[in-house]
Amino acid sequence: MKKISVVIPMYNEEEVALTCYERITKVVKTLENYETEIIIVNDGSRDGTLNIIEELAQKDKNLKVISFSRNFGHQAAVTAGLKETTGDAVIIIDADMQDPPELIKDMILLWEQGNDVIYAVRKNRRGESMFKLLTAKMFYKILYSMSDTKIPKDTGDFRLVDRKVVDVINALPEHNKYLRGLFSWAGFKQKPIKYNREERKYGKTKYPLKKMFKLAFDGIVSFSNKPLKMIGTIGILSVLLSFVVFVYAVLSYMFKWNNLVPGWSSIIICIAFFSGVQLISIWIMSEYISRIYDETRNRPEYIIDKKINFNKEN
Ligand code: UDP
Ligand code: MG
Repeated sequence: MKKISVVIPMYNEEEVALTCYERITKVVKTLENYETEIIIVNDGSRDGTLNIIEELAQKDKNLKVISFSRNFGHQAAVTAGLKETTGDAVIIIDADMQDPPELIKDMILLWEQGNDVIYAVRKNRRGESMFKLLTAKMFYKILYSMSDTKIPKDTGDFRLVDRKVVDVINALPEHNKYLRGLFSWAGFKQKPIKYNREERKYGKTKYPLKKMFKLAFDGIVSFSNKPLKMIGTIGILSVLLSFVVFVYAVLSYMFKWNNLVPGWSSIIICIAFFSGVQLISIWIMSEYISRIYDETRNRPEYIIDKKINFNKEN
């Protein structure tokens, strides 16, 4: 019998944890021809999430729980979940029920037809702020144009992934993973499935601007070298520009075009402009260097505090 694993990352989701468990279990129970397991990863929640899922795991031995020692972030939580799965196919789904679990059945059908990655594409995103919609749209556009791997737009982590692709991802040593990019990068047979993204009915988003920015940055820096190359282009342009300014300064001195202005304002503008360019360049480079540093340090991506219901197989 084939086995399906479901991975759910949770960070401060006490309002929805129970509903989420119930709705997903309901769908999973209807998969009669498959063995199933549900893995919830508690990403260092500071509310009652862990209590709720621990209680559920006592009653339901099919529910496995991984609990982090602190908040390591959504991508780390999914990574940890993937590592522990034993199914022939793995479904990754958010806890907040914005991704309808009922879609899982359609995903499995497509998987049985020979597709390896079935990723859910948001047809519309209800109930999200103008700001989030706009920044998300901009981000996916920039990433799409910059990256060598064509990462599909409007796609989150909600997807079904075949065992062979999961094994590829699990074997990757890199940190600061941008999973949705890596799944496209891995190749194999990819298939989109469209759906309407629900409003978040319970609790608030766990992606404040800071986390969104980090995810966006990870996406761009791990999938594109263009920011590095941009430094060169900007450098050449600024040298050309300064040359023009230099010629202008010499000519205006020789022909006394503006002997009223001593010219220091233009110098100030130049200094400001070029030190700005330098700072931006250094900043971009430091982002890459900090990633090299991250990799060489080889610190684990997450720390597990507790595992529940895993003893059966391990
Ligand atoms: N999440 C997590 N760790 C974090 C932030 C989020 O495990 O540091 C989980 C969260 O519980 C949810 C999923 O990641 O299951 C997606 O988060 P959210 O719904 O807040 O993101 P949004 O849908 O607003 O982009
Ligand atoms: Mg959400």
